[in-house]
Parts: sequence; C-alpha cells; structure tokens
Amino acid sequence: MTAAATTPESTTNPEMNPTLSETSKCHTAFGWIRNERIDSLDIVIDQFQHKKTGALHYHITADNDENVFLVALRTIPTDSTGVAHILEHTALCGSEKYPVRDPFFMMIRRSLNTFMNAFTSSDWTAYPFASQNKKDFNNLLDVYLDAVFFSRLDELDFAQEGHRLEFELGDDASSDLQFKGVVYNEMKGAMSSTVSALWQTVSKYLFPSVTYHFNSGGEPTDIPDLSYEQLKEFYRVHYHPSNAVFMTFGNIPAHVHQEKFEQQVLSRFERLDRTINVNDEKRYFSHLNVEENYPLDPEEDNHNKTHLVLAWLLGHSINLEEQLEAQFLTSLLLENSASPLLQALETTELGNSPSPLCGLEDSNKEMSFLCGLEGSSPENAQAFQELVISVLENVAENGIEEAQIEAVLHQLELSQREIGGDHYPFGLQLILSGLSTAIHRGDVIAHMNLDSALQKLRDKARDPDYVKKLVKSQLLDNPHRVRVTFKPDQQLDQRRSEAEKAHLAKIKSALTEAEKDNLVKLADKLAQRQSQIETDMDEILPKVTVKDVPESLNVPQSQVQQFSQLKVSHFNKGTNGLVYQQLILDLPKLTDEEHQYLPIFNYCFGELGCADKDYLQMQVWQSQISGGIHAHSSIRGDISDEQQVKGFYIVSGKALLRNHNEMTQLLKQTFEAMHFDETDRIKELISQLRMRKDNSITGSGHSLAMQAACSGMSPVARMSNQNKGLASIAFVKELDDNLQNDQDGTTLRKVLDLLKSIHGKLTTAPSQFLLVCEEEAYQSCQDDILQHWNSSEVIAHQSDKLLNLAPIKENIRQAWLTSTQVNFCARAFATVPVEHPDAAALTVLGGFLRNGFLHRSIREQGGAYGSGANQDSANACFKFFSYRDPRLTETLDDFEQSLQWLLETPHEYQALEEAILGVISSLDKPASPAGDAKQAFHNNLFGRTAQQRQKFRQRILAVTIDDLLRVAKSYLMDQASSVAVVSNHDHEQECKKLELEIFSL
Ligand SMILES: [Zn+2]
Repeated sequence: MTAAATTPESTTNPEMNPTLSETSKCHTAFGWIRNERIDSLDIVIDQFQHKKTGALHYHITADNDENVFLVALRTIPTDSTGVAHILEHTALCGSEKYPVRDPFFMMIRRSLNTFMNAFTSSDWTAYPFASQNKKDFNNLLDVYLDAVFFSRLDELDFAQEGHRLEFELGDDASSDLQFKGVVYNEMKGAMSSTVSALWQTVSKYLFPSVTYHFNSGGEPTDIPDLSYEQLKEFYRVHYHPSNAVFMTFGNIPAHVHQEKFEQQVLSRFERLDRTINVNDEKRYFSHLNVEENYPLDPEEDNHNKTHLVLAWLLGHSINLEEQLEAQFLTSLLLENSASPLLQALETTELGNSPSPLCGLEDSNKEMSFLCGLEGSSPENAQAFQELVISVLENVAENGIEEAQIEAVLHQLELSQREIGGDHYPFGLQLILSGLSTAIHRGDVIAHMNLDSALQKLRDKARDPDYVKKLVKSQLLDNPHRVRVTFKPDQQLDQRRSEAEKAHLAKIKSALTEAEKDNLVKLADKLAQRQSQIETDMDEILPKVTVKDVPESLNVPQSQVQQFSQLKVSHFNKGTNGLVYQQLILDLPKLTDEEHQYLPIFNYCFGELGCADKDYLQMQVWQSQISGGIHAHSSIRGDISDEQQVKGFYIVSGKALLRNHNEMTQLLKQTFEAMHFDETDRIKELISQLRMRKDNSITGSGHSLAMQAACSGMSPVARMSNQNKGLASIAFVKELDDNLQNDQDGTTLRKVLDLLKSIHGKLTTAPSQFLLVCEEEAYQSCQDDILQHWNSSEVIAHQSDKLLNLAPIKENIRQAWLTSTQVNFCARAFATVPVEHPDAAALTVLGGFLRNGFLHRSIREQGGAYGSGANQDSANACFKFFSYRDPRLTETLDDFEQSLQWLLETPHEYQALEEAILGVISSLDKPASPAGDAKQAFHNNLFGRTAQQRQKFRQRILAVTIDDLLRVAKSYLMDQASSVAVVSNHDHEQECKKLELEIFSL
C-alpha cells in the first residue's frame, strides 16, 4: 500500500467538508434527507422531499453557471395510443398563467437557453432546460412549472398535436378522409426505422404484461383510438406533484429553487392518494421463439435482410449492485472485437454484422440483455442461437482472460470520470443518469457515486469463478429469454396503407352531414388559429433581450511550445484526471479514388492489427489503457472564399493520466504500423459501416437531403456529400456487395491497395500535437510525447503535396428513394462565405424565416415534425429543410413562399430580436471542457480565430430588418436553387414531375 492511500482524506469525510453542510440548507416546505460528495465529479448531491405532497427534489451543487432544471413525471401507459407522448406535446401548448398557443416554441425564441426540450420515455415524461443566464433561467422556470402543472389542454391542441380526421381538400367533404396530427406523423417517421420497430417488437415479447409491452410513443395504428377525455384523465393522475421528481444542477442553491416550486406549484396541491409505479414482469418458465415482419421497399433486394435477436430479462436497474454486475457482464461479452460474444457475432457467416441492439438496456425498471445479427436470413435463427449459447457455455466453463477483465473495469472507471457536455449540457447528462432510478424510487445518490461500488466489483472480479457464475445465473440458467426473427415483407406497407384507406372510407361512409360539417369546421378553426399571429399575447411571456447578451465570446486560449522536432499546443482545462491527445497532420493531396476510400480508411483506423499484434490483441490493449483511438479528416473552405480549401487529418485518443504514456505509444503504433493483411476483418468492417449508414437514414434524412442539395456549392460540400452523405451510402452498399461476390479477389485487392496508399501518404505528412489536460498534468504529458515522437523524422511542408480540390459551382436536382413512410426535403441557394459582410444577415434570416413562417406552414399546417432554414457559411449557401414530412412538392413550394412572406409582410423588431438571440445562444453554447478546447484549436487551424468569431458575433448583433430584406432579394428571390429529397417509391412520379434525377438506395 502506498503512503498516499493511507493518508486520511478530509474530502471524503462529511463532517469536515464545508460544502456538505452548506448545500443541505432547504426551504421550510421541504425536508432534507441526505447528501453525499462525489469527488470524481467534484459535485455534491442532496436529496429533499416536499412535506405536503411528497414530491422529490434532487439538487446537484456544482461550480458551473450552466444551471439545469428538469421535472419528470412517472407516466405508465397501458396501451399504444401514445397518450403520454401526446400529452407531452399538448402540455406545452398553453397554461393558466401563459394562455398563449405555443409558449414552448415562443420561449425557445426569446431565451438564451443552451438546452430546451421535452422527452417521453417508456415510463417517464420529462421537461428539461438549461441556461447560463440567471434571468433567462428564471423565465424558463416560470413557464415550465406552469406548463407542466397548470396546462390548459385545449381540445384544438389535442387535434393539432395528437390526431384528427380531415378531408384531403380541407373544406371539400366529398374528398377522402385522412388522419393528421404532429405525433401521428412523428411516430410514422420513427417507426419507419427498422431498428426502432425491432426494439419495439423485442420489448413486446420480453414484457408480456407490464407497461413496456406497449409503444409509449404511440403506434400509428393505435394513436387514433385515443380520446380527448382519456388524455385529460391521464393528465389529472400523472401530472401531480406527488408523482413528480424535480432535479436541478448548478450554482443556484437548492432552497432558491424550492422557494419557486413551493410558491408557484406545490402550495396549491394536496397529496395524491395513489401511487404510480411499474410492477415487476411475470417470469417465463421456458424460452420463447417468435417471428415477425417489417416493411421493406418493394424495389429493394430482400436477401439477407432478416434481423435475429436473443434477449433476456435480468434483474432490477435500481439495485446498484445488480446493475453494475449486469453492466460488467455485458462489457465482458461485448466491449470490443476481442470480447467473446462480439467476436463471434462479427466473424460468423450467419449474418452481415452485429445487431445495433447488442448491449444492456438498463433504463427500464427491469434490465434486459440483448445480442443479435443483422443482414441474416430466417433459416439461420437456430444456428445463431446455438452460436450464442456455445459462446456463453464456453465462458461459463473457462472464464475470461484477465486482460479483458482489467480492460472492462478500466472502461467503467473512465466513463465514470469523464466530463461530457458536447451533446447535452453536462449537468443534464448527470441528471439523466440518475433519472430512471429516481422514477422507480431507488437510491439516486448511490447510483451517481459509483466509486465505492466499482471498488467492490473489482474485489469480486478477483475470484476466478465470479465471471463463470455470472454468465450461468444471468443468462444460461435464465428461462426468461426471447428469440425474435424479424423478416422483411415487401407487401406490408401496401397492406397497411390499404387497411388504413379502408378504415377511413368506412368512417367516412358512417358520417352524418352534421359530423362532416364539424370536420370541415375543425380544419378551418385550426387553419385560422395557425395563421393568426399572437402579437398581443407575446407580452404575457417573459423574455430576455439583446441587452442581456454578454459582450464577448469566451474562447479558450492555448499555449504553443516548439521543440526541435515537433510542435505541441496545449489547453489547461478541468478534465477530471483525463488527458485528450490529438496528432494533427496536414491532409495530403489524394486521388479521387483515395478520397472516396478515405471514410473506409477512417472506419478501419484503430480496428486493425498493428506491428506484431493482430486486431484482437490491439483491441484489448486499447480497452486496457485508453478510451479508444479514432481518426477523421477535416476539410473546410477559406473564410473569404469557399472554393479555396484546406484539410487536416486528426488521430485522437484519450486516457486517464496514469495511462497517458502508454496511450502515446499505442497511438503512435496504431498510426505508423497498422497493417492491411487481415482481409476478413476489413471486409467485416465494411459490412458494419454499410449497416450503420443504412440505419442512419430515417433519423438524419434532413441532413442527408441538405448535404445532397448543396453538394454543387463548394468543393467541401461535394466532398462531404461523397464521404458522409447519400452518395456515400450508395457507394458503401455497392462496395460491400462487390466484396461479397468477389470471386477472383479483384475488388479486395483494389480496396487493400487504396488503403495502403492512403496510409503511405498520411505517414509522410507534416504533423503537430494537441494536448488538453489539467495544468499540473501538462509537463508529464509533454514528456510522454517527446519520449515517443521526438526522434521521428521532421517532414517539411511542401505546398505541391497538400490537398487541392477543384472548384465547383453547380445546381443539383436529386431524389433518393428508399424504405421510409415520410419525406425529407431540402432546397439550397448559393450565397457567401463567413467573412462576407452579408453572412451575418443571412444567418439571422434562417431563424427569422423558421420562426415567422416555416414552423407554421410546414409543421403546424403541413404536419411535418420539423423544418427550418440556415445559412451555411462554410459552403457559402443557404438551405431550407423539412424533417419527417408527409408532403413533398407543397413543402418545396413553401420554402419559396417564405420569401414572399418576408417581403410582403410588415415585421416587428421583436421577431428580429428573437432570431438574433437564437443565433447568439448557438454561438455561445458551451461544450465539455475538452470539447471547448478542441473546437477553439480546430477553428484556429482554419482561420476562425477568436477575433474573427468575435467580429462575426458583433455583426449578428447589428443585423436590421432591412438587411434581411436586402440579402433575401440579392441571394434568394428568383434565383436558381438546388433541390434534394429523401422519399419512397410511391413518390417516384411526383419526383419526376419536379424534374429530379432519381436514385434508389
Ligand atoms: Zn414528439
């Protein structure tokens, strides 16, 4: 034992830590229950309970001014009508104090929030937001509290957000009936994703009787069954303080929050005499095998499109010990390609690649473990099951290599320590990690403070029999197991839509004249309400103004050190003991084919054997000492000329400080000595990449459509469409097919040659380093880099060897057809790069058109889930998009209509200010400490210096309404535009009429 470990640490002793007694102060209406300090995250978490109603409050004290609020309700549906989800939408449509139609969307615009949303999960509904500005935080808190507890639930909002019947031609009662509604369309879109439909199917059988049996988001076939009365009753019971959990994070003290909760909400409620909770599922006594179908586009090849999944029901997620054990077991089996189960699934001929569902699902009250294959066929189901069971039996018999066990424990420690915040605010991430435990009345504090539980797990894992017993008790001897065979059915969509048509025709034939009249009136009422602009109502809602905006941007600064051979830039950041290292290379000149294969090279990076190790040994080494080694290329246009490009190649790794030296060695070896002789592995990785790209379409169709629409605007846009867009999906699909029918090995040889030539060019490119770590760690990290790299040969910059892309300026008209029930539309216009004085006005114009016109015409009236517009200064273009959209031509027209609206309608300053605030809060949005530093560094590489960004920010604040009109006229009105849509084959004729070039995916 080291001396340090025996020294008593005052920070772990509650008596001696002043912050602990400080945080426990609470409002008199609340009782304090307990608190704990979590050293690894530098936070204190307190638990309180409201005396009268029993509402729970967890507060996380942190030295962080990005304060976060969340209120969650236990919502436990007993059918698939989507009642909880529709309620989530309607609750945000006006409340007692704020009786405006759309306070949520209005607040998004008059706020400096860094996060605002609402979530429906399988057993809870939550309303979170975050802001760095105290006035803004209080505004949002007022509106959120009122919306959740005093919602007015207007019947018209139920019709708009949930579902309604409408004649296709609004006022013409002789036209066909159709279902409409935001949630109805949203779920049609969500359920178009095969992976979501598969997860829903697995849950249905894994949970035969409890709430997880149902689709809490709503099944499109069941949503129309929900009545307005049922919605109100569900609200009355579930949206009650006795059923609520409040969670807050940041530097506002708990009692300040509680004062508000008490005043505005809690004092007005009595305790509810009903406890809402999820029951335990009844257990199966024998295994279950089922087959179900999912819709596949009739034009698509239906071979090898079956998904196979094995799923087990495990113990309680709120029992920390059971949960950690399940996580540990899952990681042992699936952590990396050398883990026994993942290795079997990746290398078997029974399917194309491991299922995206592989892993542990621990957000439900009872956890489940899943593994599977995609790209398989129904006849393989039994063999797949035998394969999985044989792997498990082998582990139960022989255990697992110690190196793998170490690697898994290391990964658990690393993920506990890392401070996130790049996708969600850090505080919200913490809150969400404890939420499901809070919902099921478990011990949230214990769940957030994993340190001691991890130590216990380490001790248990020393017993060589521990893993063997775990596999047996959790999986092999567990009869609650379901095998799902999920097969493609190319007629399913057609039968589904015919059944819907027949159902609607039946409803229509039974309608009386008066009922028909009512439907026409309802459509009319909604349309009228939607076109009304509630300017007076605006005064009711609180707001922040441009005066509340901080003067300047906060850009972290780096220090640069030049050693004889290499340059190291470093940022001092509170990273909680982690070090982030990047090797940055000047991207060399590549051939067109090399460019096309660069994403394949990136995907293989860190996944292949290096030097004397094979890929399995490399995987174990990576897991033991790092949080992964990745590579990507970054190409951007010049700030004043989008046709002039520059590119870098970045290899990144992260590690706990104690492993930094070894990680530096690992990174160097991975980069310099990767070899391309594991051909089966390379083919397997390409199949995985194909599946991953395929599965991304329904979730990010709007980005893909925009990428295609602007692919003629700049060399970078063309490259990003080719490497990440729809064109890349088509390319990887074709390559994977060719590799599978590659009798004479020509395709494989070509792939290997290209990967090698890319590698050769990269290893002879000039390089530099970036380090992000805590100040006291810097010296040793720098020494590590010098130790491993300083003897390397210096490579001078040679401009003729640098990336060079041909200029491009052309219009594109494309339709990409695939299996989707909804459309994604995009239109793009050529504009200017970021340094041009008009870039600021165009940027503000995006939000202005969305707030003033697009949201209303495309979401509220058109029924799409989302829409918007934005200036893309990197590629000098302006883009419109829609997301999960039932319409196509009309939406493309609406994009142009928005410009008419802009020029013909008088506009208030308020609308301009809202659009400006939107841009500012996205410019100021904080990332994680490491993310902020990396962003600043990479912006600098491309001339986006702190001064340049500050100047752009000043220009945003100075934009006027006249500027908006001027830029719309000069760049968008009556200008040629590019169009791209993602749709299905039913829309082929419509796309042809629009003169779009048709591609099948
Ligand atoms: Zn929704």
